[in-house]
Amino acid sequence: MLDAEFFRRWMTATAASVDREAERLTALDSPIGDADHGSNLQRGFTGVVTTLEKEAPDTPGAVLTLAGRRLISTVGGASGPLYGTLLRRTGKALGDAAEVTEEQFADALREGVDAVMALGGAAPGDKTMIDALVPAVDALAESFAAAKTAAEEGAVATTPLQARKGRASYLGERSIGHQDPGATSSSLLIGALVEARDE
Ligand code: ADP
Ligand code: MG
Repeated sequence: MLDAEFFRRWMTATAASVDREAERLTALDSPIGDADHGSNLQRGFTGVVTTLEKEAPDTPGAVLTLAGRRLISTVGGASGPLYGTLLRRTGKALGDAAEVTEEQFADALREGVDAVMALGGAAPGDKTMIDALVPAVDALAESFAAAKTAAEEGAVATTPLQARKGRASYLGERSIGHQDPGATSSSLLIGALVEARDE
């Protein structure tokens, strides 16, 4: 079973991973964006960890809805509302249970990813975070490790794609040949599930 403490560890592990990879995320956002993705998410997830420490929500749903709200209020740029919606909707789907099963979490995360697609209008293949999140959710029924691998492969697979959503889409064919920063940060978010489990 996954409790509030697990979800708090997930957010803490994501913040640490984003810190470690911030320069790389920003470097990926240079050729096909505005070179702020690493700093955007660093600010966002640092804020999430601070807020979770201060308010200490005591259910999985409350942890994720609070984290999502904080991302939306802290991160300027497309990724803040999108990641905020992902976590908020996932948290809402978990309701007010004190503990949830991995299967319930997988179903809730799928609702969250669907909400991101509804908000941003991106589908798989558009070279966005969706290209890592959808395969991750599909693999989550198997294991967290499988989801991590699927997200990483999804991120790498964005390289040959032409961007059809977000800032990178302004470049048209010139967006081809670069890995999408948001798909890359999504693979960090999903990878942090494995760390949260092991701690
Ligand atoms: P901005 O583009 O406003 O500078 P960021 O650099 O923080 O925001 O985030 C860029 C990432 O956001 C992209 O790499 C992409 O993965 C994701 N993104 C942008 N627009 C969309 C969208 N409409 N749907 C899903 N993801 C998107
Ligand atoms: Mg950017």
